[in-house]
Amino acid sequence: MPHTRIHSRLLNLKNLIILLAFLVAFITLFNGFFANHQVQKDQLLKHTLDTNHAYAQKLAAATNNFIEAAHQQLAYTAKLVEKDLNNQGLLASEAERLHQQTASFNSVAIVNNEGIVLAASPNTLGILGGKLLSVGVTETLGAKKPFVSTPFLSSAGNLLVLISYPMLDSLGNYLGYVGGTIYLKEKSILNDLLGRHFHQDGSYIYVVDKNKQIIYHPNPKRVGEYIEINEVINKVTNHISGSAKVANSLNIEMLAGFAPISKANWGVVAQRPLVATLSSLDSLMKRVVYRTLPLAIGTFVIIWLLANFISKPLRQLATTAREMDSPSAHSNLAKVESWYFESKELKQAMLKGLGSLNTQISQLKEDAATDPLTGVFNRRSLQLLLEQLEQKNIPFSVLAIDIDHFKKVNDTFGHAIGDKALVELTKVMRKISREEDLIARTGGEEFVLILPNTTSSSALAIAERLRQLVAETTINPIGSIQVSIGLSTRSETSQISSDTVLEQADQALYQAKKLGRNRCEVYTPL
Ligand code: GH3
Ligand code: MG
Ligand code: MG
Repeated sequence: MPHTRIHSRLLNLKNLIILLAFLVAFITLFNGFFANHQVQKDQLLKHTLDTNHAYAQKLAAATNNFIEAAHQQLAYTAKLVEKDLNNQGLLASEAERLHQQTASFNSVAIVNNEGIVLAASPNTLGILGGKLLSVGVTETLGAKKPFVSTPFLSSAGNLLVLISYPMLDSLGNYLGYVGGTIYLKEKSILNDLLGRHFHQDGSYIYVVDKNKQIIYHPNPKRVGEYIEINEVINKVTNHISGSAKVANSLNIEMLAGFAPISKANWGVVAQRPLVATLSSLDSLMKRVVYRTLPLAIGTFVIIWLLANFISKPLRQLATTAREMDSPSAHSNLAKVESWYFESKELKQAMLKGLGSLNTQISQLKEDAATDPLTGVFNRRSLQLLLEQLEQKNIPFSVLAIDIDHFKKVNDTFGHAIGDKALVELTKVMRKISREEDLIARTGGEEFVLILPNTTSSSALAIAERLRQLVAETTINPIGSIQVSIGLSTRSETSQISSDTVLEQADQALYQAKKLGRNRCEVYTPL
């Protein structure tokens, strides 16, 4: 079946070695790659978390500095005006200066301990002389100290925080505060401080107050929103600084760093999407693959060459084994370069096997060509030889030999003794024949001797010598036997077939029998 043939062709030692080596190489490579990937990923995550944490700390420090500076500015004005609160001109000019000069606040107001606005900038607010009732103002008046309020809605409808410094009389009684506001949803110092740190890759920062309300976010719509469930917000509002992997409100995984802003009980969070962080890992790993590729190709070539080198002797031995009966089997086998133990052993064993195989084959050939009793050629071999002589136009003579009265030998001494006589006769025939002559047994006690390149007269001499020698040879217990011989010759120019020559020799033999036996007769055409 072609299917199995393809299988057996692919399932060879070379391919198996290649497969094995590849498997090992691939597993090693993959393992290394995977480990590398894992280490790089951990590094990258840690690095991003650390960076964001450091960044959050930096922003927290900057915001703290800002609040501290704002308090100092407010303190200066408070000290200046608290001794002279009835001086309307001073209050108005100080409020104006604080608002215009510092650019820290969206608005500035000087408020007495009842919440009444003594001075305000800008003038457009329209609150001068009025009483402020907002939550933040009440909170500030209650604090009576340098303060940052929780975000609240002003009477004008702005979401803001109020940064304030208290005014005290010479006895230390609370007189009110000098306050600056920061509008959370509009352009403010907070935007300037935090807003420029917005990245292209989805990184951003935001700030919450102690109640988990967002007071800064790159998306203004989210300012004022409360964040209920967020591990990072929980920590930062508990004054904990650190980093963590969290999901944001859109369920996007973020690497967040966070730090509390102690001066205002706020917390700042700097975060970067996990995907953005890992995208650099992908390109990093791609570079690793490209770098590994030349080495991998080199390894492949070496594996292929080695697989070839190792499997070659066994492949050659296998090919030779398939053609053990070919005449070139021995030389093919001798050529196999068996450079390692197993192949060497196999080659030796095969050479040994080939030797005995050759003798077996030649034995078989001999068995098919010869007569088992006497060892001379059989009729079939005779036929083949005659055909060759005829084809090559080699002249030859044929002696047809028949034992005289052999039936009587058998009858008198038994068949076994008769067989012995047959063997003895072939011995005599071998003795008088030359190397190129051929002896064949053509029937029971009938033999043929082919004498190539022998003229009729030489052949007759040989026949006569044979007849005499047989008669002189003693065969126990018979004594001796005698033969009659008929002779025919085919010359180079002869047109007759070798079969006819054989028949002619038989006719001559018949003649010899008729003329009294124990004699030689040459065929003569009638
Ligand atoms: P002649 O040729 O002189 O006319 O007489 P003959 O007795 O030899 O003639 P025939 O051809 O009638 O007898 C041949 C005998 O040879 C018959 C058989 O007993 C014997 N014979 C044939 N083959 C064998 C054999 O293989 N072994 C033995 N022992 N005898 C054989
Ligand atoms: Mg006979
Ligand atoms: Mg006979």
